[in-house]
Amino acid sequence: MENTITGHTRLIGLFADPIRHSVSPMIQNTALQALEIDAVYLAFELGEERLTQAIDSIRALDMLGANLSMPHKMAAVPMMDELSEAAKLVGAINTIVNENGKLTGYTTDGTGFMRSLKDQEIDIIGKKMTIIGAGGAATAIIVQAALDGVKEIAVYNRRDEFFEKVKEKLIYIEKNTDCSIHLHDLTEQEELTKDILESGLLVNATGVGMKPNLDASPIEDFTMLRADLPVYDVIYTPRETRLLKEAKARGAKTMNGLGMLLYQGAAAFELWTGKEMPIEKVKPIIENN
Ligand code: NAD
Repeated sequence: MENTITGHTRLIGLFADPIRHSVSPMIQNTALQALEIDAVYLAFELGEERLTQAIDSIRALDMLGANLSMPHKMAAVPMMDELSEAAKLVGAINTIVNENGKLTGYTTDGTGFMRSLKDQEIDIIGKKMTIIGAGGAATAIIVQAALDGVKEIAVYNRRDEFFEKVKEKLIYIEKNTDCSIHLHDLTEQEELTKDILESGLLVNATGVGMKPNLDASPIEDFTMLRADLPVYDVIYTPRETRLLKEAKARGAKTMNGLGMLLYQGAAAFELWTGKEMPIEKVKPIIENN
């Protein structure tokens, strides 16, 4: 590979633990090189005890910014000088932008989700959607969907610690947007059937359907699915979960989590560089990983 690093080259970090498996360095560096932007993106595996130092280093090293993943997404929030509207509502960040020492925290998972819908020409603005899950991915999706103008969101989760924790957050999101949001226990099958019937999109934002339970699905009664109900699964390994297979068999449009993954990275890239990520150049990296 040709060496393009100079004395002017700026740094973008990825702080998480574990992180060595991440495809983000390949995606971001491919995009930076394609647009000849004088910056590099490097992964730093660091635990909670080093987060404060890592955030300080963004200022000290005049870095362009950073991405954050587990376990730092919530812990970094109070360390920011400013937060985007979505980050305030989600209560977590995955992207930091450094402007002369002022750090702004953003969350791009929800933006990634909404952009990937647009990419597939699925329009849910002004409509209702049903989402299963109430964890980090679900909250980011709910917030961005509400900010972008989705009219109503039915949230279903099993009665675990996420259910209790998300209750107040959903009320807070509803208060601060024009979206009507209601939370249900996943066992309320009659309600779920009704909500799905009224929805223009069904989303799985749980890990149900991943290895080793490839046959598992967040819903078991597949008669709720129909040809004109697009189904989105945030899981990308496997590429087609049981839920997506069942939806496809009924003639529905289906999407896996690769689009969300791709576009959350694209949104971060744009925040750091002010330039659109060359999507076609990075798509194969994501698809083949
Ligand atoms: P999380 O731990 O914050 O939340 C997990 C959610 O799954 C909770 O709502 C929990 O109640 C639910 N859940 C767990 N086991 C369940 C079960 N057996 N039955 C029903 N519900 C169950 O995790 P997260 O960060 O929100 O991630 C959830 C999924 O989203 C993971 O598969 C993750 O890989 C995926 N994800 C994808 C992207 C992407 O870009 N495509 C981004 C983030 C997360």
